[in-house]
Amino acid sequence: MTKFIFVTGGVVSSLGKGLASASIGCLLESRGLTVQLMKLDPYINVDPGTMSPFQHGEVFVTDDGAETDLDLGHYERFTSAKMSKANNWTSGRIYLSVIEKERQGVYLGKTVQVIPHITDEIKSVIRAVPKNNPCDVLIVEVGGTVGDIESLPFLEAIRQIGNEEGRQNAIFIHVTLVPYIAAAGELKTKPTQHSVKELREIGIAPDILLCRSDRPISLDLRRKIALFCNVEERAVISALDVQSIYEVPLFLHDQGLDSLILEKLGIKAQEADLKKWRELVSVIKEPTGGTVKIGIVGKYVELEDSYKSLREALIHAGVANNLRVQLEWIESESLMDEESESRLNEVDAILVPGGFGRRGIAGMIKAVRWSRKTKTPFLGICLGMQVACIEFARNVCNLQGADSTEFNQETPHPVIFKLRDLIGVENFGGTMRLGSYPCRLQEGSLAYEIYGCQEEISERHRHRYEFNPEYKPILEEKGMKFTGLSPDGKFVEIIELPKEVHPFFIGCQFHPEYKSKPLKPHPLFVAFVKAAFHNRIQSENLKEDVVSNRQIDTTEIIGGEV
Ligand code: GLN
Repeated sequence: MTKFIFVTGGVVSSLGKGLASASIGCLLESRGLTVQLMKLDPYINVDPGTMSPFQHGEVFVTDDGAETDLDLGHYERFTSAKMSKANNWTSGRIYLSVIEKERQGVYLGKTVQVIPHITDEIKSVIRAVPKNNPCDVLIVEVGGTVGDIESLPFLEAIRQIGNEEGRQNAIFIHVTLVPYIAAAGELKTKPTQHSVKELREIGIAPDILLCRSDRPISLDLRRKIALFCNVEERAVISALDVQSIYEVPLFLHDQGLDSLILEKLGIKAQEADLKKWRELVSVIKEPTGGTVKIGIVGKYVELEDSYKSLREALIHAGVANNLRVQLEWIESESLMDEESESRLNEVDAILVPGGFGRRGIAGMIKAVRWSRKTKTPFLGICLGMQVACIEFARNVCNLQGADSTEFNQETPHPVIFKLRDLIGVENFGGTMRLGSYPCRLQEGSLAYEIYGCQEEISERHRHRYEFNPEYKPILEEKGMKFTGLSPDGKFVEIIELPKEVHPFFIGCQFHPEYKSKPLKPHPLFVAFVKAAFHNRIQSENLKEDVVSNRQIDTTEIIGGEV
């Protein structure tokens, strides 16, 4: 029988409920339990797929092709649970299915209402998760903040499940803020009190409070919160800001959170085994191998959340190499000025990540050209691969005006064009090539080597445009290699430059970052960070050589056209 943990948030948004839920999952797994996680989002969009990264942050893609909230990325990185369409529901998607049922006549005769029809639909999607994937505990995170009008149906649904299951089988954890007020020189508990009051008014009495604060919460203050919020004193857990997100489970464990949860749910479990997790955190905090600087040239770089999985994948790859990965976020539009080369020169490797629309493309092309010519390790992901093809077509194959039809419909050389499968599809929501697809690797290629000589791999996709195969022979003739293709040969999935020409130049149409985990770093990122470090050592040696006035053949450094 599955037990339930409902996680709600109060006071303000962005308190890290997703990380808290993922960390709870991680702790329960460390005690030998099986977990599943899901997120309920109170907005009307059917999924976040159509939202701008500025609105929503990254869209996380699951194996089955769902475009989901980025918290699902945390769930997969912190636990072994596999996310799918079933694990993220928005109000829009709930309403859509209720309205579809109404049209089919399912509710015939009845007036369809928020209560019970919407709340019943919410309850049924929650209960479907453990039904299809039996687990000891299901953690359900409710997005938004308690007190929002739009969260109400979700809160009512979880209240009802709590009531149906009973106190021993379903608990409520509320994540709140205890702000420090500088003028008073004090942490204030009132916002937490109000938010719990609000929750209690709708019939949910939290069992545990996770209090976010930027400094330790004294025992006295915890007592006060416990008294006014009607929770046990030991159930007031302080969730301090920590250096690395991977510390969160350890921090919560040290305060006894997992034992408390198990006690409340009446589950007997083994002691927590967090050895690997502790090792991971210690390498993240103090890697002994050195530092590498990776330049990420994209257009949503100012927003911390828009490349969440990418950021994490690079940190994981740093751990695998025992290196600190310093990320240099370079706004691609800023690369159009004179100083751009000096900025690119400062990094050990360049990554052009995914993205949409034409803004900033010229800067990305410049960055690709620079890494190709200076032999700086390059990784292009999705849009990054497409841009690498455009750059190569223009500057090496001399196909002037080569472009993607996403940026220029009239290009004389559409090296990237709309997915052939999408011709005639005008809707935007959920119509990209989404989710996991197999890819065949060419023996002997860099990709083949990176993936440990596997012939076939599977990676997650999210794109509307693809490489135009008509241009394959032309680019091939000038030295580009197409080393990863869909098994039917229809889609180009990986491009690279041969080792003799460039030490590490690779682009992939898929998003490897979605599958990287801290304890299972993705081979592409591991190899990329390794190549970056190699480049760093080489350039340091080179600088020393210059200082000692030795003769250096500059063509070796600059490289000609391929
Ligand atoms: N805009 C490109 C496409 O739709 C790339 C998408 C991406 O980088 N995720 O194909």
